[in-house]
Parts: sequence; structure tokens; C-alpha cells
Amino acid sequence: MTVSLRAAGLAAAVLAAVGLLAAPASAESFPALAFPFEAGQQAYSAGIHSDDGTGGVRNAIDFSPADGTVRAALAGTVRLQHCSGGDWVTVDHPGGWRTGYYHLEGIRVTDGEHVEAGTVLGSTGNALPCGGSSTGAHVHFTLWTLPDAAAGDWDGVAFARISTAVAAALGEPVDGKTLGGWRFAAGPEQYSGTATHLADGAVVRLPGRFRATP
Ligand SMILES: [Zn+2]
Repeated sequence: MTVSLRAAGLAAAVLAAVGLLAAPASAESFPALAFPFEAGQQAYSAGIHSDDGTGGVRNAIDFSPADGTVRAALAGTVRLQHCSGGDWVTVDHPGGWRTGYYHLEGIRVTDGEHVEAGTVLGSTGNALPCGGSSTGAHVHFTLWTLPDAAAGDWDGVAFARISTAVAAALGEPVDGKTLGGWRFAAGPEQYSGTATHLADGAVVRLPGRFRATP
């Protein structure tokens, strides 16, 4: 009971903060990211979807790289989010952006640690530290605009709230973003879209499997 009341308070703080501070963060364009795994290997993506998979801003995309190793998509500072079921990894980047890596098993980084793009964070998995669901080992990779540090303290916040109230306030669409030299576009449905290889114009329909050549 204490946890849910605290979570509600945090979400209210998030919503309040974003009203005051969203404009400066969104004035900067989102940086080009690496894939959240090593380039050059076969990978499966279940496509672009909202954080909860049902509605709202589509700020998430699922990946299952062949080697099962999840890496930071951009340099930044690790913020581990703690729940009764364990931890999950977020990384804060210069310019007020955050990337998220849910379902990881064997987390290899610590809270406050500086990481480079490509630093190993852990392994794809089915972990549900703050709730949610997963069918098949993967990383649920998520984008947010983060107005300030207080808005990013999600300790004890249930995934049900991260994927609804927090996503509505801070979620950054995957549509139009570049990861690892591929531009991702959302489709009309949840778990759909395309990935276009900028080097040669090749298009992969999502969900789908592709070789993540830079
Ligand atoms: Zn997902």
C-alpha cells in the first residue's frame, strides 16, 4: 500500500515537472543512437509499440539480438530503477533524454555508472521487476524526454504506471528515430512499422528479422 501511494506521488511530480520544463528539452533534436546491441548480427524486432502495447505514444520497440547481449545505445549515466521484483536499467543522456532497457537478466552495470555507447548492460530476458509481461527473451527498448533528475526517479514505480502516466508525460516516439544507421517508422498497428537501412535504402517490415549492418 505504501508503495502504490508513493508511486502515485512520484507520477504526479513527473506530470507537474513536465508541464513546466518540457519545452527546453524538446527544443533539441533527438540524437542518433546505436542499436541497443552489437551491430552486424542477426536480430529480430517485434516492432514499434506503446510502452504498454495497447495505446498512447509509441515510445518502445522490442529487439532480440542473436547474441542475447544488450548494450547502451548512447553514452550516459546509468540509473537503475528498483522494485520489489528487482532492478531495471535506464540510461540518462546529455540533452535531457533517457533510454530504457526492460526485461534484462544478469544486469552488469551499477547505479550512477558512466557508460559509453556499446557498453554491456546485461542479457535479453523475461524479467518483470516492476510488473508487466514478456513472451520470449528480448529487450523492451524505450525512449523518453527527461526534463530533470527528479522526474527520472522511478524507484518503486510499477511498470503499469511507467507505461501509462509516465509514458504520456515523457514518452518520446520511436517513429522517425535512427538506431544503428537504420531509420524506424511506426506502422498503423501496435507492434508494426519499418526499418530502413540508410546506407542502401533496404526496407525491413516489422515484426521481422534482419542483419543489423551499420
Ligand atoms: Zn516491448
